[in-house]
Amino acid sequence: MREVFRHALPTALSEVEEKKLKEKLDQLEKILDEFRAKKGNRLKVISDGLNLRTREEEFINIDPIQAGGKLTPEARKALIAYGDGYSVCDHCLKPFRLDKIKKPPLEEFHRDLAVFLGMDVARVVPGARRGFQAVVSSLVDKGDPVLLTSLSHYTEFLAVEESGGVVREVMADEKNLVTAEKIADRIEEIERTDGRRPVLMIIDHFDYQFGNEHDVYGAGKVAKEYDIPFLYNGAYTVGIMPVDGKKIGADFIVGSGHKSMASCAPSGVLAVSEEWADRIFRTTSIEGDLTGRRFGTKEVELLGCTLMGAPVITMMASFPHVKARVEHWGDEVRRSNRFFQLFLKIKGNRCLSEMPRKHTLSKVDTAASFDVIARSHKKRGYFFTRELKKRGITGIFEGATRDWKLNTYGLSDREIEYLGNAFIEIAEEYGIEVED
Ligand SMILES: *Cc1c(COP(=O)(O)O)cnc(C)c1O
Repeated sequence: MREVFRHALPTALSEVEEKKLKEKLDQLEKILDEFRAKKGNRLKVISDGLNLRTREEEFINIDPIQAGGKLTPEARKALIAYGDGYSVCDHCLKPFRLDKIKKPPLEEFHRDLAVFLGMDVARVVPGARRGFQAVVSSLVDKGDPVLLTSLSHYTEFLAVEESGGVVREVMADEKNLVTAEKIADRIEEIERTDGRRPVLMIIDHFDYQFGNEHDVYGAGKVAKEYDIPFLYNGAYTVGIMPVDGKKIGADFIVGSGHKSMASCAPSGVLAVSEEWADRIFRTTSIEGDLTGRRFGTKEVELLGCTLMGAPVITMMASFPHVKARVEHWGDEVRRSNRFFQLFLKIKGNRCLSEMPRKHTLSKVDTAASFDVIARSHKKRGYFFTRELKKRGITGIFEGATRDWKLNTYGLSDREIEYLGNAFIEIAEEYGIEVED
């Protein structure tokens, strides 16, 4: 129906258009009748070869990277209303920058984001990786050492690679935890071998492999002590738990909109302390040699503007909900631990992440349980995927039965019970011992 209006004259609909509108209304009524008759939704395709995606409606989805990025109803509405190209640029006035737009209230949103993270200045970026890139590209020159960890995300490596820097890793300890002591020791070692300290350190609060918590508060202290700029990677925290950059002692906070802020991809946030704002968000000074053209206050690292439509509008639409939900992180962690109470009743199951769980992302080992079945099953590991699917559960790497990850973020108590018991039921069906 919107499409009819989109091609109509501003003054009135033609007879043909009125007719089309009526047809659409009738169609809508038919759909409603079918819903009421519990016939389900017969709409299956969007266009040729492009099906509707109904994974979130049909399944409990425990995909490790998707849990915190599911859109709120507000974001889904905003997506339809603001999906058009440069939709947020309707009222872009001088100085022609995304973070200065007042309608919709992008300027206010940028201020709110900085406050939300306990930082001074914030910008939206197309994914956490683009946040790393902006910082690394501003601070790192060819040959400069950058401190990462043995559990760092690949996008941090790539950001360093692009700038010509070299990676120096700090090893996590035997419990897969990165400690302040290990960081300090490694910095001193780098100083001895490279002849200087790292020009930047990037520490993930919770890593993507185990979902273990690393000592970012200690890292903040070490960073101050050795005078090394500190980027806090909050891809798995910003938007799902409270994050206060000042308390942590971070110079830069990076978050992922599509991983943890209930937003469309690609989206993310880069927040910096006052001290670094001019350097990271430096404005252009380049000039055309023939025309002498200059580009005012466009920010170089952001290539002027970043998220000009759907991604930023979904971030904004979800933001009130996101601000509220971080206060309930304790419940999410409690439910994650409840899941493991059930899951670990299955003999042979192990949790490879730290216990008790401090996060909803976890890595498990089922080599001595479900993998034993897979080894002699004609469908191999896919038997497990199929059994889960039969129970309306999806998101685990297909065919995996040895070690795999899951994320329980956002599941209700009821869903957690269902999920845990589904694994138990599968175990029992295949004769794996289950504790009472
Ligand atoms: C997912 C993830 C990233 C990348 O986030 P994008 O927003 O997709 O760029 C970076 N670091 C960690 C630890 C992650 O888990």
